[in-house]
Amino acid sequence: MSVLEPRLAESLRALVTDPDRVTVNETVLEHHSHDLTYHTPHAPDAVVFPTDTAEVSRIVQFANEHGIPLVPFGVGTSLEGHIVPTRGGITLDLSRMNRILEIRPQDFLVRVQPGVTRTQLNQALRRYGLFFPVDPGADATLGGMAATNASGTNAVRYGAMRHQVLGLEVVLPDGRVIHTGGLSVKSSAGYYLTGLFVGSEGTLGVITELVLRIYGIPEHTAAARAVFSDIESAGRAAVALIGSGMTVGRVELVDAKTIRAVNRFKGTDYPESPTLFLEFSGGRRAVDEDIRLAEELMRSEGCLAFVDEHDPEAAAKLWEARHHAALALMAMAPGKKLMTTDVCVPVSHLPGALQAARELMESRGLDGFILGHVGDGNYHAGFALDAGDPAQIERAEEVNAAIVRHALARGGTCTGEHGVGLGKRRYLAEEHGEAVSLMRGIKALIDPRGIMNPGKVLPE
Ligand SMILES: Cc1cc2nc3c(=O)[nH]c(=O)nc-3n(C[C@H](O)[C@H](O)[C@H](O)COP(=O)(O)OP(=O)(O)OC[C@H]3O[C@@H](n4cnc5c(N)ncnc54)[C@H](O)[C@@H]3O)c2cc1C
Repeated sequence: MSVLEPRLAESLRALVTDPDRVTVNETVLEHHSHDLTYHTPHAPDAVVFPTDTAEVSRIVQFANEHGIPLVPFGVGTSLEGHIVPTRGGITLDLSRMNRILEIRPQDFLVRVQPGVTRTQLNQALRRYGLFFPVDPGADATLGGMAATNASGTNAVRYGAMRHQVLGLEVVLPDGRVIHTGGLSVKSSAGYYLTGLFVGSEGTLGVITELVLRIYGIPEHTAAARAVFSDIESAGRAAVALIGSGMTVGRVELVDAKTIRAVNRFKGTDYPESPTLFLEFSGGRRAVDEDIRLAEELMRSEGCLAFVDEHDPEAAAKLWEARHHAALALMAMAPGKKLMTTDVCVPVSHLPGALQAARELMESRGLDGFILGHVGDGNYHAGFALDAGDPAQIERAEEVNAAIVRHALARGGTCTGEHGVGLGKRRYLAEEHGEAVSLMRGIKALIDPRGIMNPGKVLPE
């Protein structure tokens, strides 16, 4: 039965300046019921599109008073069932809070609303010769990216979202609006609340504004492709590159299956073998020297072919192909749903972890793919699954669990960037032990009625 009676939907309409921004339209509810993955969909009872902080505060306060579950929503590209309103209630879609409030080129920072997407921000920054580096493969919102502590191909050089967020405005479950951090690049004043909300996946409050670091676009950038006969050699070469101390911009691994999918999806003709996509940036001469050293190193690790791309268009095409890899793989499996592991290990353990993942997939007869941000020790073994086949999902979950335990045993994490959502809750206690009880205490303190994205992150 619906949590939200029609009477309550009417009450919601009274809280926003335009009642059309509260909807119970079936298509909109369905759109907010699922992500790309195998997690079981569940529709919210209503979707609200707020346009300012005051509206968010009124809606959250209302939900809290009536004990109605509330799920913040950016553009729904997260990959662990984060945005599925498993208990119904209100989905708060923040995509219309999409204004860039301030660009401060001299301070290398911006102030944005949470619905601004990463490409929208980069388009606005380009004319200042600046850019924002965090680049998940989807055009996600900055609020959603902060809420999942997202990263991407640039994290090996610039870090994840957690390293970019200087300050936040957050609406707490009781409607209070707080500001954490500020405009300065460092502060030692009190508890680090910004870090608490980054990665909290909508379970502690709604992010309504962010202060983010931005960077100068490097003078020269070059990309390269290093092709290998097998994935383990590619992994060893990535570790050698990181260990060499060279300043690498990007180190991405794609397996043969992914390259095949990308070639079909993007019309490219890359050799269909495991490949490292690399990037170097800086002054022209330094980049040329980096590329020369990288080629030498890759060849000493068994690289079969090394192709460098100095032409910006060719390099952009290469990175677009990499960003679209997951979509290319899904296009090869129409009607199927995605399960992707997301472990991160200390980088020296990467080759062993890749080998273990491949062997596990083969031993269970799962036709998966492997790709990832291997410069950070973060990789994804993924499967396209038939959501109506519980036996297949169970097999994939077993492989996922074995990959996670392999990573945890080596000091790694169950999720390097996607977050916990529904899919990784079962590993949180294994990874954090007693610290999970402190997390529960924090959740109970901030959200005593448990309205914020209930059933996510913390294990039952
Ligand atoms: C093809 C593809 C490639 C991807 N590649 C990467 C990758 O390389 N790296 C990576 O890290 N991720 C990747 N992702 C996952 C996804 O893009 C990220 O998780 C992203 O951060 C989600 O942003 P979103 O705006 O879609 O948020 P949503 O999916 O809408 O929400 C994500 C979570 O954040 C919460 N949330 C959203 N907005 C707010 C807010 N304003 N306040 C509080 N909580 C909020 C939600 O409740 C939810 O728990 C990929 C996804 C796809 C589909």
